[in-house]
Amino acid sequence: MARKTPINKWYAKYATEHMIIDEDSNGLFYQLLSEADENVLHTVRVDESSAVPVVTSCDCEGHEHGHTCKHMIIATAFIRRIYKSTIAKLEAKEQAAREEALAQAKRDQEKLAAAIQQTPVVVTPVAAAPVITDLSKKGYLYSNQGFSILKR
Ligand SMILES: [Zn+2]
Repeated sequence: MARKTPINKWYAKYATEHMIIDEDSNGLFYQLLSEADENVLHTVRVDESSAVPVVTSCDCEGHEHGHTCKHMIIATAFIRRIYKSTIAKLEAKEQAAREEALAQAKRDQEKLAAAIQQTPVVVTPVAAAPVITDLSKKGYLYSNQGFSILKR
């Protein structure tokens, strides 16, 4: 089951303000104070390989049970705030790319429509049908012949 209980916003604020950001041989990580025990830190791993870092895991029990834990949600909210302008730029870029792809598809479609209008429509289906029939007959005859030669 996914998380149903909302995150205590005071805890979220507290955890964000006291978050430790560090790096080791496995890359970037954040450490967040536990809500239940202030002497416990939970380590959230962060993948920095893309333009906006992505939270990948947490060492708390909640995450081990397959949930996206509150620490990961708080860390993700932190990243979204810190990288707000990067995210906005990326989204604008993606939007522009989508619009360009759409415009290109429209141009292709118009080109195709123009090409179809210039081509006489009747030719294609009439030419195709008899050729296929001939080939299958030929194929049938050849394989029969081959078989009888082998038999002899
Ligand atoms: Zn966690």
